[in-house]
Amino acid sequence: MLAYAMAVLGLLSLLAVLFSVESYLKRRNPRDLLLLASGWLAYGASAPFFYLTSVSGGALYPALFGALQLVGICLIVMGAFSYFVAFNHVRAFLVTLALGVVAFTVLLTIPGTTRLIIPAENIIMFTSAILGLSRPREFRAVGGSSYYWLLGVVVLGALAALGWMPQASTGMGVAPVWPWIGTTAVVLSAVVFMAELENNATLTELRAREAELLEYRADLERMVEERTEQLEEANRAKSRFLAKASHELRTPLNSIIGFSSLLHQGLAGPMSDTQRSHVEIINASGRHLLLLVDDILDLSRVEAGGLAVRTATVDPTALVSEVVEAVRPLCAGRGISLRAEVPHGTFTIQSDAAKLKEILLNLAENGVKYTEKGEVVVRWAFPDAAHIEFSVSDTGVGISPEAMPRIFEAFVQVVEAESQAVQGIGLGLAISHEYASLLGGELSATSTVGAGSTFTLTLPT
Ligand code: ADP
Repeated sequence: MLAYAMAVLGLLSLLAVLFSVESYLKRRNPRDLLLLASGWLAYGASAPFFYLTSVSGGALYPALFGALQLVGICLIVMGAFSYFVAFNHVRAFLVTLALGVVAFTVLLTIPGTTRLIIPAENIIMFTSAILGLSRPREFRAVGGSSYYWLLGVVVLGALAALGWMPQASTGMGVAPVWPWIGTTAVVLSAVVFMAELENNATLTELRAREAELLEYRADLERMVEERTEQLEEANRAKSRFLAKASHELRTPLNSIIGFSSLLHQGLAGPMSDTQRSHVEIINASGRHLLLLVDDILDLSRVEAGGLAVRTATVDPTALVSEVVEAVRPLCAGRGISLRAEVPHGTFTIQSDAAKLKEILLNLAENGVKYTEKGEVVVRWAFPDAAHIEFSVSDTGVGISPEAMPRIFEAFVQVVEAESQAVQGIGLGLAISHEYASLLGGELSATSTVGAGSTFTLTLPT
């Protein structure tokens, strides 16, 4: 009966060792390794108490010896089984410990069985070591140099166990010193081995992950480059198309404007009042359409990179007054005052006058367009020796902080114009922004909803 119980215990232990070795090799869970390592450490630490028991007697040493053996074996068994079953480690440890206490108590109270415990435990230790050593390639791959150390210690431990066997079979008599040194050496080496195993495993895994990440990054970068190239090409194609299409639209539009103007002037014969007013509408609509087509043409030209900068000497004060005078008719009858604010004296800068004027016209027109009452001021100043700053401030509707980042994009309209005196399609700021960078400068805006906006163009002098 007892022999059967021991055989079952031995088999279970053997299975536990098998699973644990398998578990190290597969590195399933570092926590299992920790369980096994601490189990084996407790097991090894029990050996000196066995020796002390045999030389000095008393109850303390056997109790310590038994407790350490018990805890050690419980942890080893748990570590091995956690390979198969996911469980709560604390609860499982308590259950295993309780079972272990029962098993030990039963075994220790039945006379003659104690001598079987030590050989059984030794079998657990050596089987696991030998099983591990039987797969040297895997062990070397993850365990590094400790393989050779482990090999030496196992030989020593095996000799120690052989010397222990006859001793154990005659009962818990006096044990020679060297067998437990051998056993402890095996246990410690196993612990060191496992620590290194885990360390190496983590390192290997980290390196593999890093390599994987680098590969992903390279892939991503390549993809982003490809996509950017495709997008740029698509954008260039769109701009080429727009440039060509708007050019084709201008010719018939000019005919519509020209001939409606001739009709209106009565050069093609007399017309009734109704006819004249219809022709006037045709002419106005034609001119409006031409403005829009021009805007599209301008923007697509800048985007297609087909616009040259013609630098010349520019008088900023004269430019600002030209802009103010050109925009003044838009203020007529609307209670908006429009004025220029410029430094005294005569100054000049080097820039492209036509593009500069276009930007300021756009800004001033917008100022008037989006202001119901108050004033629009066009200014210029030198903020420092290397820059000139043109600005257009209004006391209009303002731009919300959410809309602000998008106003320089093409075809973006944030507020519907109250007055339709000057209509647009959301291209003015986009064109101005492109022109500003073409001139080596920058266009920016600040605004408070309900209080007004200021657009500032900064250029190198
Ligand atoms: P649009 O042809 O619609 O005027 P823009 O590109 O000139 O197009 O302006 C884009 C949008 O920015 C406008 O629709 C308007 O919502 C806003 N915006 C531009 N200037 C002002 C301003 N001075 N005050 C308030 N909103 C403005």
